[in-house]
Amino acid sequence: MPAASLRLHFEPDHEEFRTGVRRFFQQEIAPHVERWREQGHVDRSAFTQAGALGYLLTWAGEQYGGAGIDDLRYEQILVEECVRHADVGIYFNLHSTVVAPYIAEIGNEEQRQRFLPKAISGEHILAIAMTEPGAGSDLAGMRTQAKPTADGSGWVLNGAKTYISNGTQADVVVVAARTSTESKHAIGLFVVEAGMPGFTRGRKLKKMGLPAQDTAELFFDHVVVPAANVLGDPTQGFAHMARLLAKERLSLAMTSLAHAQTAFDLTLDYIKERQAFGQAIGAFQNSRFVMAGLRAELDATQCFVDQCVLLANAGRLDADTGAKAKLLATDLEGKVIDACLQLHGGAGYMDEYRISRMYTDARVSRIFAGSNEIMKEIIGRGLGLYGRRR
Ligand SMILES: Cc1cc2nc3c(=O)[nH]c(=O)nc-3n(C[C@H](O)[C@H](O)[C@H](O)COP(=O)(O)OP(=O)(O)OC[C@H]3O[C@@H](n4cnc5c(N)ncnc54)[C@H](O)[C@@H]3O)c2cc1C
Repeated sequence: MPAASLRLHFEPDHEEFRTGVRRFFQQEIAPHVERWREQGHVDRSAFTQAGALGYLLTWAGEQYGGAGIDDLRYEQILVEECVRHADVGIYFNLHSTVVAPYIAEIGNEEQRQRFLPKAISGEHILAIAMTEPGAGSDLAGMRTQAKPTADGSGWVLNGAKTYISNGTQADVVVVAARTSTESKHAIGLFVVEAGMPGFTRGRKLKKMGLPAQDTAELFFDHVVVPAANVLGDPTQGFAHMARLLAKERLSLAMTSLAHAQTAFDLTLDYIKERQAFGQAIGAFQNSRFVMAGLRAELDATQCFVDQCVLLANAGRLDADTGAKAKLLATDLEGKVIDACLQLHGGAGYMDEYRISRMYTDARVSRIFAGSNEIMKEIIGRGLGLYGRRR
């Protein structure tokens, strides 16, 4: 971790919260991680345990059963302690800070009352489905389509989604679908619930990392979604996604940076112990320079991400800034973990050393939630630099 003095945005209440959260991850979550990585998903009871302690959707209002503390610093603490003491592949934050805000911020009061309480308690696990086999970065190319039912009481959904996190376990999935044959920018957001006729799940996808996080294909075959399950204006999904994706990207930046900080710390311990040529590996000038450079970059990026958390709290996190946080933190995560693995030598390639799995777990951070090339596109457009328009 960076020197505590470098982080000024936490207050005593946050540190007290961190103590309880750390105990939870150490005692209730860490003992199961190995088994979850084997079985390919987290036990549902992890969500209900986290929910019982108030660790899911910390921001949600008391009228829905939440704590009503709309302060992203609490989510940041949850992410940091989860990554450090349990695993990077346990996606409470996807549930809490990525998917649930679609319901809270775009949904209406009836939808909030219907969906938020069980998300807060952990009885229901949430997922979001945008990506398709033929459309990831270019979401305007999505083919999943929603057509109004003949009687106008709802929509009929047809299509397929892929790479969906929490995909096999989710009870509630926010699905993006095209709602007009004329405009590819008319997208709606539909709440699809487990058990709706025509909604099926494909295989759990095998991945190079993050084995405890289930990632799946979802299929929609004439799924009738009632109008009551449409979030907001069914033609304005892009605008909604653009707004909420900034916070999603910050959430990933917080996770990636916590992962990098953890890799740094365990490597520092390792190179102080491991000997070669009669001295600790850490005593070689190369090791000192590598670690010093990484320390400086970690501290600088942490300051930026912490500032973004405060911007989000103030309602001022824009798309460009969210993209910058994601770009910087995930690039640094890759750089730090690669350098740390190198300092471990052959041990770094062995599964029994955490740095080895951190390497494969981290690789996706530069790809998902919008690839880092797309982050540069967003930041570039903010500078008034546009490529060819389609
Ligand atoms: C483990 C995992 C979990 C995921 N979870 C979810 C989820 O829960 N929900 C969900 O909806 N999606 C999820 N995704 C999907 C993820 O968001 C997409 O994979 C990502 O957006 C990239 O899309 P793509 O895979 O189609 O790549 P492509 O769009 O095919 O991109 C391929 C390459 O081309 C580059 N590229 C594309 N367009 C441009 C451009 N304009 N300029 C420069 N380079 C470009 C990309 O950066 C990339 O390097 C997940 C993915 C993974 C791997």
